[in-house]
Amino acid sequence: MWKYLRDICEGFWSILLSMQITLRYLFTRAVTVQYPEEKRQLPTRALTQHVLTIDLESQELKCTACDMCARICPANCIHLEGEGKGKARRPKWFVIDHNLCMYCNLCVEVCPFDAISMWTGKYELGGFSRTNLVYDMETMHADGFYPTIMTPRSPPGAAAKAPAAPGGGKQERKG
Ligand code: SF4
Ligand code: SF4
Repeated sequence: MWKYLRDICEGFWSILLSMQITLRYLFTRAVTVQYPEEKRQLPTRALTQHVLTIDLESQELKCTACDMCARICPANCIHLEGEGKGKARRPKWFVIDHNLCMYCNLCVEVCPFDAISMWTGKYELGGFSRTNLVYDMETMHADGFYPTIMTPRSPPGAAAKAPAAPGGGKQERKG
């Protein structure tokens, strides 16, 4: 009999405790956003879709097809082929399979030429088939300045003019 009454009291007490937590958050500001109408600003270093960065002067890809990113990738999702020799060497084709990517950022960190970045703020990567998530050179070709490990906030030489990168997204090229 006492055990039965004690169980009822304990159950009632646990309901009071949970209601106390509910009431505490009932009058605080909501942390949810109405996605996709409303989008939260990402931190600059949020790891999102890859982009192959370009030299802002020549508008050419910085990638020299050295293959280091493909070799270090633990998911084996980077594949490329280079053409040309020396400084003129560039990728003939370059694909990253985002079906396999685990966003470890190793490919970015190993790149000796700052030629690839994941600080693009592009996180809406859904597709209707798996092939939609295999990104080729055209899809990943940067169309302007993107923050990278070497230039996290603004293009080289434009630090005084350019504002901080807004939430890791693309920043307009200055000058
Ligand atoms: S982030 Fe990691 S898993 Fe994704 S492509 Fe780069 S190295 Fe591979
Ligand atoms: S992105 Fe960087 S590491 Fe990968 S092939 Fe190009 S230059 Fe080499």
